Amino acid sequence: MITIGAAAVVLAGCAQTGNEGKPAIDLANFDNTTAPSEDFYQYACGGWMEANPLTPEYARYGIFDQLDKENQEKLKVLIEELNSKPQEAGSVGAKIQMMYSMGLDSLKRNADGAAPVMDQLAAIKAIADIKDFSSMVGKMHVESSSPLFSFYIGADEKNSTMNLLQFYQGGLSMGDRDYYLLDDENTLKIRNAYRQYIERLFVLAGYSAEEAGDAADAVLAFETEIAKVSVDRATLRDVHKNYNKMSVQDFTSKYGFIDWELFFKETGISKSEELNAGQIAFFEGLTKLMKRTSLEDLKDYLSFKLLNSASGYLSDEFVNANFDFYGRALQGKEELQPRWKSALAVVNRSLAEAFGQMYVEKYFPASSKEKMLEMVDNLQAALGERIEALEWMSEQTKDKAQEKLGTFIVKVGYPDKWKDYTALDIKADSYWANICRANIFAHNEMMKDEGQPVDRTQWGMSPQTVNAYYNPTTNEICFPAAILQPPFFNPDADDAVNYGGIGVVIGHEMTHGFDDQGRNYDKDGNISSWWTKEDEEKFNERAKILVEQYDKIVVLDTLHADGSYTLGENIADQGGLLVAYQAYMNTLKDKEAPADIDGFTHSQRFYLGYANLWAQNLRPQEIMRRTKTDVHSLGKWRVNAALRNIEDFYTAFGIKEGDPMYLAPEERINIW
Ligand SMILES: [Zn+2]
Repeated sequence: MITIGAAAVVLAGCAQTGNEGKPAIDLANFDNTTAPSEDFYQYACGGWMEANPLTPEYARYGIFDQLDKENQEKLKVLIEELNSKPQEAGSVGAKIQMMYSMGLDSLKRNADGAAPVMDQLAAIKAIADIKDFSSMVGKMHVESSSPLFSFYIGADEKNSTMNLLQFYQGGLSMGDRDYYLLDDENTLKIRNAYRQYIERLFVLAGYSAEEAGDAADAVLAFETEIAKVSVDRATLRDVHKNYNKMSVQDFTSKYGFIDWELFFKETGISKSEELNAGQIAFFEGLTKLMKRTSLEDLKDYLSFKLLNSASGYLSDEFVNANFDFYGRALQGKEELQPRWKSALAVVNRSLAEAFGQMYVEKYFPASSKEKMLEMVDNLQAALGERIEALEWMSEQTKDKAQEKLGTFIVKVGYPDKWKDYTALDIKADSYWANICRANIFAHNEMMKDEGQPVDRTQWGMSPQTVNAYYNPTTNEICFPAAILQPPFFNPDADDAVNYGGIGVVIGHEMTHGFDDQGRNYDKDGNISSWWTKEDEEKFNERAKILVEQYDKIVVLDTLHADGSYTLGENIADQGGLLVAYQAYMNTLKDKEAPADIDGFTHSQRFYLGYANLWAQNLRPQEIMRRTKTDVHSLGKWRVNAALRNIEDFYTAFGIKEGDPMYLAPEERINIW
């Protein structure tokens, strides 16, 4: 799944939205002391950034996060409405209500301390041999965390109408292998904080200081070894290298580091004869690593994985320990977010579609969907024209590309059928027990797909998510209800601004079907080489120039952007801008150009609408973290690095040779 990064427009007669009268472009967002030709991002967003400094709870705060925050307030209203009247026992209303109220109830959690997790911890301590260990790994995958590796049921990338069992590298709790393996000052500081965090959780769970210290050493040492056999993040983007289909029997006999039969029994895997072993090198490495690791160390590792997963849902001592590492050390945050927001996030995750259904009923008007579908059509037509006009691509490959473009599945707003939450029980025992039940429910839902055809009506995001995605195996683009609000989509705005906003988002998701990853899948969602060799080479030459452009960017001190890792998103940003602009211009055919608004031409307003989406402030730690773990470029570069390749942008703002925003025509690159 590929997303755009990090909402509802209701017309007269509908319930409150909080969106009324938002300006298309807020002039207060500008920094008029900076010229557009000098630093377009600063010019378009500087005023907003100055007026919205980071508050202690945020590591990054941007227009995107502001929208998300407004959306949280809307969701909170839904909960307050539920709370204002009695809910029938067992109804989704009652489930949401109870999950949320348990999230707020710190008194109970503080009184309970570590108690909610102690039975599970005792079961890990009681592990006597590799058989017990294997069952426990399975059990944890179902209810609490994912030790050693991850697994899921998802489309077979070479037979995309069928689901396939998928095993993927995993087992690390710091996000990226670099945190374990690099020795620069910042990484060492973070690793040291991580070591302290592990120890602190063990102490909170009742270990003596000495036991906790020893266990923390064992866990960090073991995870470091996992990191060493993990594939790096750039290689994870190579769709060919990460597809290794084999029989289940082959896999389990080659990589017999646990008793797979027991693991399958616990997880309910029963219908698969084949699987995809995502990273062969990882499973080979893990097999060797497990042989030389003692059972005691493995038990410490499982204990930590459990405590780490539970820590956010236990007493304040646990929650603070978790925040001190993941919030403070890793992201530079200074303060926990208010409790209601974390409680809301849990409801959003565990009862996603039930909550989403309420959200859509209250906040999402049918008119938004109609307008969106019309824009998607226009964007699709514009991308078709652009493909047709490409100078570097042969007719043969163009035909296939057009076919793929013509078969996009488009999802807007909310799913046609909703998930049924009857089987999910929410009880008053403990918050953590409910989290586990929600995990088990989600696991069982996923296992229903084992051995089954892919259900293309399923959604990969809930309607209340402020985001969008492209899924290559279903060749689908999806725009949840929550992104269809200002500044992405504003019914009161001029078309230029909406095309610069949601139009670019639509074009961005479409372009993912043709970026360095997506282009490997054909119209049916299968990995196949539908490109001629020559066209493939030409694509790669162009992509390489974009990689080099972004590699040169200094994001912080001496730290550079990772052009290879962010390539797909950078291609999509650029493609989105080109396609949306063309679609917008097509709407003006045979019409007079719209009059200037606020002193800006309509072309300028298109680019300003785009730039505004990415206004953001970030902490230095967060810049470092995102450079390792976020496939998207930072806001500043989503604007400046993308636009300096685009001819129409130069024309719109009169950017000339010698200007800091200027890039010589021979250095510019347009792919789509
Ligand atoms: Zn994207």
